[in-house]
Amino acid sequence: MPRPIPPHIAMPRPAPLVDRTPPEARHSRRRLRACHHCDWVMALPPLNSGEQANCPRCGHAEVRRHRYPAQRSMALALASLITLLVAVLHPFLGFSVQGVSNHIELTQSATQLLGFHEPVVAIAVLLTIMVLPSLYLLSVIWLQAGLLWGRPLPLSRGIARSLAHLEPWMMADVFLVGTLVSLIKIAGLADIDLGAGFWAFGVFVVLLVATSQSLDRDWLWFALAGEPAAPDATRTGETAFPQGLTSCHTCGLINRLDSQGKGRCRRCGEHLHSRRPMSLQRTWALLAAAAILYIPANVYPIMTTTSFGRADPSTIIGGVFKLIETGSWPVAVVILVASVLVPLGKLVVLAWLCLVAPRAHQFNALTRTRLYRLTEFIGRWSMVDIFVVAVLVALIRAGQLMSITPGPAALAFGAVVVITMLAAMSFDPRLIWDTPVEQQHKQGSV
Ligand SMILES: [Zn+2]
Ligand SMILES: [Zn+2]
Repeated sequence: MPRPIPPHIAMPRPAPLVDRTPPEARHSRRRLRACHHCDWVMALPPLNSGEQANCPRCGHAEVRRHRYPAQRSMALALASLITLLVAVLHPFLGFSVQGVSNHIELTQSATQLLGFHEPVVAIAVLLTIMVLPSLYLLSVIWLQAGLLWGRPLPLSRGIARSLAHLEPWMMADVFLVGTLVSLIKIAGLADIDLGAGFWAFGVFVVLLVATSQSLDRDWLWFALAGEPAAPDATRTGETAFPQGLTSCHTCGLINRLDSQGKGRCRRCGEHLHSRRPMSLQRTWALLAAAAILYIPANVYPIMTTTSFGRADPSTIIGGVFKLIETGSWPVAVVILVASVLVPLGKLVVLAWLCLVAPRAHQFNALTRTRLYRLTEFIGRWSMVDIFVVAVLVALIRAGQLMSITPGPAALAFGAVVVITMLAAMSFDPRLIWDTPVEQQHKQGSV
């Protein structure tokens, strides 16, 4: 006959709703993941602060563990938001030439484009440097505040899901480089005055990057919703696809899919697919659109400089040659790489990856995966030239003496950057690693 349970064990104290200890301290069972880049199923090792777990097959970073993750990202997000507020409320840049001076605020780099009938580029600038980063920071504060108080705040799961989708579109760091390039471009023409807003924006960029680096998604989802056990009979050391499994792109949890290769994550509710649906077709279509837009982006002028009544339109390449003529070699290289080599390189690399994916099973798979990661990482830096135009248009409004207006190539080039980013996102790198058998299985669904 079993002994009666003592009352102090039978009625434990109510546990807090959120446990802020790391996942390793709470679970003895293995936590399984399938790599997002090569589909390899692995068990996460226990991680100490500062350590990260990489995929043994392709090297993709699965989890990075931070010390005090909630406190750290909360503090960084709050500090970023405050510096952004300071940057918006103070003069950003000043400019004076032959007695005519002009000051601009950060928001004017977007709003001035409206005056030149470029609403789409204006909205893109406003979204990428201010609106989306603010939303991201508020989301981080909302999530971490809930976790630190021991009770997730309403809508926490939906907000946590949206973080990963916001991240690639935050381009404050690219805008800062664009501002520096435009300052070097006009340094010989006028006296430049860096306002308090400029310095605050520089600090904001550093803090924003630190905030997104500090976010430990594995820990965040574990604290928000625990970790359901992996499906029965999940085998490590082989790919997830033949086992009918996939890892959630948002929270990492391994899930079983239905016979159609679809499902929903048990932890975060995200839609799941064994491979991104129509991955190759979508990537091809986006690449074709980007290649077509690349022509007007280079044929038409990206901006027109008018000084002393003489209009001087310049294309992207023309701008690079002009910079070389004036001896600004470093800036010419930055613009050449960001505006010409990166978009062209992305088009060529993604087209090649799509072309060989159905044929070259695992041939140079690691090299091709690394190339894919590189295209995904550098794509957003092509926006530099758009930001240069935005800053110059806003800054130089000295009336009859000198003015800069955006050209039709600005919209076309901005579209090329956004569409190639979407193309990289729609390509599924797991296709690189798929064996011919897996490819045959998927022909119906991919
Ligand atoms: Zn991998
Ligand atoms: Zn999930």
